[in-house]
Amino acid sequence: MADPAQMLAAGEQHAGIVIVGSGLAAVCALEGMREAGYLGQVTMIGEERQMPYDRPPLSKQVLKEPGAEARIDLRDSAIFEAPMTRLLRGRCVAEIDVHRSSVVLDDGAVVGYEKLLLATGSRPRVLPGLPPAGAGVFYLRTLDDAVALRGALKSAKSLAVVGGGVIGLEVAATAVGLGVETTVIEASPRLMSRAACTQLSQVLDEEHRAHGVHVQCGAIPSAFEFSRNRHTISWSDGRTLEVDLVLVGVGVIPEIGLAERCGIECAAGGIRVDGFGVTSIPGIYAAGEVAFHYNGRVVCHQRQENWHHAAAHGRHVGAAMIKPEGVYQEICGYWSDQYDLNIQVFGAVTGDEHVVRGDISARRFAIFHLSDGVVVGITAVNSPSDLRLGKKLVRAGSPLEAEVESAVRA
Ligand code: ADP
Repeated sequence: MADPAQMLAAGEQHAGIVIVGSGLAAVCALEGMREAGYLGQVTMIGEERQMPYDRPPLSKQVLKEPGAEARIDLRDSAIFEAPMTRLLRGRCVAEIDVHRSSVVLDDGAVVGYEKLLLATGSRPRVLPGLPPAGAGVFYLRTLDDAVALRGALKSAKSLAVVGGGVIGLEVAATAVGLGVETTVIEASPRLMSRAACTQLSQVLDEEHRAHGVHVQCGAIPSAFEFSRNRHTISWSDGRTLEVDLVLVGVGVIPEIGLAERCGIECAAGGIRVDGFGVTSIPGIYAAGEVAFHYNGRVVCHQRQENWHHAAAHGRHVGAAMIKPEGVYQEICGYWSDQYDLNIQVFGAVTGDEHVVRGDISARRFAIFHLSDGVVVGITAVNSPSDLRLGKKLVRAGSPLEAEVESAVRA
């Protein structure tokens, strides 16, 4: 029998707030609204049929362990069943009708809104020549993607991971641990170049090789062929590689289609919003990965692709939709677990000076990233106390010396 909470009569109008998306930013926005005192109707509409879940375990626990998906719910279902709250799962918003202040679902159902939040996130960038539906080709964004890849890895002997970013490297570490011969193919000269400093890239390169992963940086494959259940990957210098499976992790593209089609201003690949999440159309907001947002701390617009930002920006915009109290100014970071490395990065990894504490070869170290003598970021590997110190310095915009000395003395 259909779940009554999922049912929506054609032509139904519901005023209140509509959230498009059911990921982390959407869920945190719902909490932000309620914390700000909003008691009215909220309808959250998500394309995925599962209850809102956390994505970081998809490339780790869920790939390794059948059943792990039972433990990745973002929140207890009670928050979506609370009064004046409705979660529509497996439902897709096809259009926004800005004149009627309503969204139209792909089955023609209409939901009216007083305010609308777009928390549509991103989709994986598709590699030309390797469409997601191809046999033996995997992308990793959703729980369904992870479960499908887990099934395929059970019987595969070899895997090529195209893209040596966070997703690609976490999958490589998991796959090689499952006994699958794994090759990472990265276009740029070093691993995780988007989000890691050069020292961390070097450590990752060494660790993956030490665990038996073949790492090939600096060369984009020129062709992919599939025959007799095997993929042949070729490079222009004549090299080839044959594998059972290919996992593509070459970054993401923000889901801005809905916004673009109704005339909302987009920039730098995202939906442009101010420090409160407001788009170019009053009453419509955007939050999370999809938002090219103003950050008062860095005094510019930017887009961020990490868990921390999705949570913080979602909550901030959700609250600002009810009670705007200050522009967004969160400093964000990310983490990754690969083998025995717990990698934590906070703030900016650029800068003009990098101070290393600890022992890189023992895989227990922190790198303080400085700009004009001020700590702007920290990279910590298996170093939780340095991470705590680094975060404090970054947040305060402090120089390094005095703090590090006192930490050493303490
Ligand atoms: P994610 O967080 O999804 O892993 P990133 O942007 O961190 O995404 O990493 C994607 C990686 O894929 C980048 O390091 C980028 O250099 C790499 N990449 C992009 N296009 C190609 C390609 N055609 N072949 C190999 N690597 C690619």
